[in-house]
Amino acid sequence: MTIEVTGGIVVRERGTVVTYRQRCDECGYVYDYDKTTIVPAYSTRSARNFTCPECGHYQEVSMRHHK
Ligand SMILES: [Zn+2]
Repeated sequence: MTIEVTGGIVVRERGTVVTYRQRCDECGYVYDYDKTTIVPAYSTRSARNFTCPECGHYQEVSMRHHK
């Protein structure tokens, strides 16, 4: 089971806990600090959206488990 993050890249995952960095889909900008959240098994979780400081793109963030 792996966790897929939209609007971010996975740094590491352990069970339902994922550490990720916010990433802009538009220009590829990646924040230089990690965020950690819990994604319930087999479900989707929304995370805090952000506005890219590089290009101003409003990026939605969500993560989901998939087998
Ligand atoms: Zn951007």
